[in-house]
Amino acid sequence: MKAVVKTEVGYDHMEYMDIPEPEATGDLVKIKIAYSGICGTDLHAFKGSYGSTKPPVVLGHEFSGIVTAVGPEVKKIKVGDRVTSETTFKTCGVCPMCKSKDYNLCGNRQGIGTQINGSMAEYLVSREESVHVLPENVSLLSASLTEPLACGVHSVIEKGNVQPGDVCVVFGAGAIGQMVSQVAKSQGATVIVAGLTRDEERFKLAMEAGADRCVDQQVEDLKEVVMEMTDNVGADKCFECSGAVPALNKALEIVRRKGTVVQMGVFANTHETIWTDLILHREIVYVGSRSQKPSSWVKALELMKEGTVVPEKIATYLCPLENWRDGFDKMISGEVTKGIIVLDDTLK
Ligand SMILES: [Zn+2]
Ligand SMILES: [Zn+2]
Repeated sequence: MKAVVKTEVGYDHMEYMDIPEPEATGDLVKIKIAYSGICGTDLHAFKGSYGSTKPPVVLGHEFSGIVTAVGPEVKKIKVGDRVTSETTFKTCGVCPMCKSKDYNLCGNRQGIGTQINGSMAEYLVSREESVHVLPENVSLLSASLTEPLACGVHSVIEKGNVQPGDVCVVFGAGAIGQMVSQVAKSQGATVIVAGLTRDEERFKLAMEAGADRCVDQQVEDLKEVVMEMTDNVGADKCFECSGAVPALNKALEIVRRKGTVVQMGVFANTHETIWTDLILHREIVYVGSRSQKPSSWVKALELMKEGTVVPEKIATYLCPLENWRDGFDKMISGEVTKGIIVLDDTLK
């Protein structure tokens, strides 16, 4: 089968090539891939700047497809099921984090598309526990974005505990910022998306998907906007999805007393100065949100079933597997918000 393989560590070293089809042994489910999203992590793997990627490996961990075979130990998933899958392939199973199903925090986790062959291929195998059958009304295109949506669910619902009426500020209008914005709207929040002038197209996407206000911080003063919208109280919850420390500090500045700031972005320099005295004097809850876990997937699929969140709205660029470089280039340049690799769009 055809696949896009990261063959060696370092910059690029990626190849569109033939590899053997995986087999559905044990508790594994074999999935024919329909769509595979291109994630920031894949771009880091391309650049060689993501340490978790263990070549040779097929990239891709955001996907949907149809089950074509199941291993002898598989109990519920059937051939023909429309599915997506969590990225967890293996965990230690015995640590406290595994026991509470916080697989995102298991120190011995192996993930699809980083250590285990991923979805930029015609087929992949995933363990049954990670596979989710799709609600009938959810398209395979939207379903391929369940992973970033689940990251948004983890951040907004499980970490941020967003309630109806909360005023939320989302820093960053990329794919994750868009998912966070959509999930916060689905919970009845007022959502302000903060970005830069180059985010013009992304702002349009966010507004179309329900955001209340977008702020180009190179043109407008975000603090003024937020204070005006909150009677000078400040935002209830802020979500840092841009990976920029100045954005985190701005969040600490505009969140209300006892408000919550959730960090999802990964900072290039991990030792930059954070405005810590604000956390103290205003009793801000500063919390990290790392990827997603099984409960986030269940909730993400519920939101898609209800139709309150429609991830495919952010899929602005689709390309076939052999043209994967186009998708990567366009995402690296920032031209598109979310590129999707199409493996088989005849699957329904
Ligand atoms: Zn991802
Ligand atoms: Zn564990």
